[in-house]
Amino acid sequence: MTDAHCHLVGDAARHFLCEPFAEPPPSAGSRGGLRLFFGTHPWNADSFDEPVLRARLAADSSAGVGEIGLDRLRERDIPQRMRDVFAAQLEIAAELQRPVVLHGAKCWGEVVKACLPFAGRIPAFLFHGFSRSHGLLPDIIKLNGYVSVGAAVLNDHAVNYRELVKKIPSGRLLVETDRTPENAASSPSVAEIAAKVAELRGVGASALERILDDNADRFANSAHQGYLV
Ligand SMILES: [Zn+2]
Repeated sequence: MTDAHCHLVGDAARHFLCEPFAEPPPSAGSRGGLRLFFGTHPWNADSFDEPVLRARLAADSSAGVGEIGLDRLRERDIPQRMRDVFAAQLEIAAELQRPVVLHGAKCWGEVVKACLPFAGRIPAFLFHGFSRSHGLLPDIIKLNGYVSVGAAVLNDHAVNYRELVKKIPSGRLLVETDRTPENAASSPSVAEIAAKVAELRGVGASALERILDDNADRFANSAHQGYLV
């Protein structure tokens, strides 16, 4: 099982870890099932440092770029600086041929619009915390995107989210804990999330696990596989 988005290693065999602020930075190279993503989160756009990002990516040829994107949780309007920092990081991902982990709280339409010019130029995108309706799925597929399902699926009141989870094409599906040092004690495991996804989609747990592992492999190795679009 792969935890497709976390900030702290948990109990899954493999992890896609977005931890750009650790000091010292997580060591370069592959460490077991750990795949690192470096990038400046939209909340930290003011501290974006392009040379540092380039150095970290240069030191780890398997690392991706993330989590990056846009955000409307804190402010109604998206600041220009946030858009510029997102665009600069997308350019770097295209130039270095790295997969990207996206953040788009309350503005997924804007994030997709910013990414579409990079379709076929960036190997793959992971839509982390994606909770919009299924209307954006055709664009996500055009981007060679994957949708990572999180702990919200365990909430019996998340009716719309569960409808989305049923509609994600199986070749595009991943699961994530979004585990951080702060929420580690309370966050459900990736296995619990996957079990609920299997139940909602009416597939067996082990069949779903195989699908999730295949998808995680394709996403992680997207730079070497050419484009599916
Ligand atoms: Zn996160």
